[in-house]
Amino acid sequence: MSSIAALSTPLTPSPEARLAFSELLLGCDEARTCAEAAVSWLMRHTQAEQVLCLAPDESDSHCLVPLASSGMPGLEGFVLALHETRHPLVEALQWNEPRWHPPGPFAPELPPSRGGLYTLSLGRASPGAPPPGLLLVSSGSAELSSDVKWLATHLGTHLTRLYKGRQLTRLEAASSELAARVNAATEELATQNELLRRQAIQLEQASAAKSQFLANMSHELRTPLNAILGYTNMLLQGVNGEPPPAQRRSLSRIDSNGRHLLEIINEILDITRIEAGRMPLHLSEFRLPELIQEVMAELDPIIVRSKLAVSAAVDPHLPAVHSDRQKVKQILVNLLSNALKFTHEGSIKVKTSYEVATATLHISVTDTGIGIDPAHQEKIWEDFQQVDNSPTRPYGGTGLGLSICRRLAAMLDGRVALESAVGQGSTFTLYLPRRARRP
Ligand code: ADP
Repeated sequence: MSSIAALSTPLTPSPEARLAFSELLLGCDEARTCAEAAVSWLMRHTQAEQVLCLAPDESDSHCLVPLASSGMPGLEGFVLALHETRHPLVEALQWNEPRWHPPGPFAPELPPSRGGLYTLSLGRASPGAPPPGLLLVSSGSAELSSDVKWLATHLGTHLTRLYKGRQLTRLEAASSELAARVNAATEELATQNELLRRQAIQLEQASAAKSQFLANMSHELRTPLNAILGYTNMLLQGVNGEPPPAQRRSLSRIDSNGRHLLEIINEILDITRIEAGRMPLHLSEFRLPELIQEVMAELDPIIVRSKLAVSAAVDPHLPAVHSDRQKVKQILVNLLSNALKFTHEGSIKVKTSYEVATATLHISVTDTGIGIDPAHQEKIWEDFQQVDNSPTRPYGGTGLGLSICRRLAAMLDGRVALESAVGQGSTFTLYLPRRARRP
């Protein structure tokens, strides 16, 4: 920056003095230095007795501070907050034309002017940007010299440019910081995605390994168990001679417990097969009335023992179904076995109907049994869940039947629903699309 002292010194400024000041401003990019040069120029070349230049400081554009002054002592630490809109100096900022204020006090922070005071706004306020500053000039004459006006306009234009440039620099810095943050966040996201992808693969592998293990285990358990059941049966049938009653009772226990174990193993095997996607669909066209008769025949010994009135009201005109016959049968056997197990008196009814609009067959099994509390109606569809899970529960079973039914129905694009009230009975309904979609 050129030195302030280098400015020419006559009281009425020559065109050279104006030129020198303009050049000095051009080479100056600090508001405080510009203000100091302006105050010095006014004191040298005009009749100014007191001068004060207020403008934003570097750090806070919402305040004006005295950047330079002459003949105005005691302004150290003075800060003019722009939100104080009723402060006379803030009001003066809004005036587009210079105004004269008679001698005496003008603003509380300023010393009273001896010969009156001119306020000149340095540039205009624009939306979102405060005006670049305010110039206060006190001189003996009530006439404002054109040199003061010239300087105020000139200084205002220069300060406006400086502050805009500074804003631009700040904006650029903020924008590159934002870009850097977005880049960092994107990289972090990509890392997390990769991590998730790897975890998903690991989970898939672990789940496949689990299913494989269970399938193998079930197979390994089933083979010796079938042998145990086979030999027990042979002994019960008296292959080695009629067993004495005590031995027969023990053999019967081995037989019933073995069958229970086989049931559990078979059900676990079913679930693991479904979960591992190794339970293929065998779709065919078949008729429900025949299938329901088959289910009733299979459970006939239990039906007879139960002494319940078990009936099937099946519409002979139901359309044929295109689905997996074996899986539909497995669901119905399960629902009917449960109805028989949890009903002590009354009846069990199997009903069918067809909903033309949705091409869905409804097969319901209604019993007058113990019913299910609404609080348990969700959990019984989960693996190993029974209303009574205690070791002393009166009903046998594994708690896997309904969870298998739910999975099988889903494989056939259908579902199983329940309506039940404690002590009044239950209705389980299988909703089956007439045509299952091939996976
Ligand atoms: P399991 O019958 O082997 O216990 P399920 O998954 O078939 O397993 O059934 C889960 C539970 O749902 C049963 O233990 C029983 O508490 C309840 N439940 C199922 N069917 C009926 C029914 N028809 N009436 C009353 N409770 C039932």
